Amino acid sequence: MKKATLLLALCLIVLLTLPVAGAAIDAVGRGVTVLVDGAAPESFSNAYITDEGVTMVPLRALAEALGFSVRWDQETRTVSVISGPADAARSAVVVLDPGHGGLSTGAGYGGAAEKDLNLSIASQAAALLEEAGLTVYMTRSGDEDVDLYERTVMAAEWEADLFVSVHCNASVIYPDAEGIYTAAFSEDTPGWTLAETLRETMMAATGAGDMGTEARPNLAVLRTAAMPAALVECGYMSTPAELEKLVQPDYQAKLARGIADGVLAYLEQESAPGRILE
Ligand SMILES: [Zn+2]
Repeated sequence: MKKATLLLALCLIVLLTLPVAGAAIDAVGRGVTVLVDGAAPESFSNAYITDEGVTMVPLRALAEALGFSVRWDQETRTVSVISGPADAARSAVVVLDPGHGGLSTGAGYGGAAEKDLNLSIASQAAALLEEAGLTVYMTRSGDEDVDLYERTVMAAEWEADLFVSVHCNASVIYPDAEGIYTAAFSEDTPGWTLAETLRETMMAATGAGDMGTEARPNLAVLRTAAMPAALVECGYMSTPAELEKLVQPDYQAKLARGIADGVLAYLEQESAPGRILE
């Protein structure tokens, strides 16, 4: 944060020296010359001195010239000056894809259908992300059949920044497999980073075990997504102890929190230019 402090100090110096500059240019009306790093940008041409002798400088122009960004909240009439450029993370478009639906039930154990668990978890994650200010679309919001290829076509039409497919796992080989598993098309891609981030945040939110992240180039949604894409498996329905957790609303809420945290963490990493002030 050293640079931020420096810039803030600079900001204050500019403001403090204004009265002096103002006095010097009073002859040319009520205009004020504002120098930023020695130059007088055009965007400050509307700085002026009021009848009461108060020097007015456009805040947005000044903040942005110094590498800050400005947010205005109409409801509370609050101006916020934030270090770093505008927060790209908060304007992202996210697509959540609850796996299966309709006739495609996915895995089925103990009377629970995977399609229902997926929808419940994804819907809650969508609500959390909307609360955080993101634009969220779901490939289905009810118990409908959605073609596998249609899912990523929709995401492209919505101009999504990222795509997360939500599933629950099953294993016929390991009867006691437990934990979070995520997948991406291949390693060394943004999708891989997204998949690894999601696995970490989902484990942190639930306390579930680690089943790793894998490259799955044959999965249709990962192969056809035009944006960073990951698939998450929330746990093993084939393992009775984990199924018992997966059907509980409380546990589904934790999984949703983990997914939302992962999406937000990934977007924050991606908007890394905001970090130059750290
Ligand atoms: Zn599935």
